[in-house]
Amino acid sequence: MPGQCGCGTQVGNHFHSFGCQDCGAALCATCAISLESASYCSACAADLLETRTVRSGSPFDLH
Ligand SMILES: [Zn+2]
Ligand SMILES: [Zn+2]
Repeated sequence: MPGQCGCGTQVGNHFHSFGCQDCGAALCATCAISLESASYCSACAADLLETRTVRSGSPFDLH
């Protein structure tokens, strides 16, 4: 689905393969972050990595 990336780049059919798997946001080739053969926006990628860190790491430590 064509749209506009968060950085302001117009995302047309040429970049149709780039889109966040999580929130569905349009992503240009520069902003798309590849994780496990899927593309995510920076926000969802950070969310995903953070979740994974918490799950696989030691118990969450509150200050
Ligand atoms: Zn996203
Ligand atoms: Zn972008």
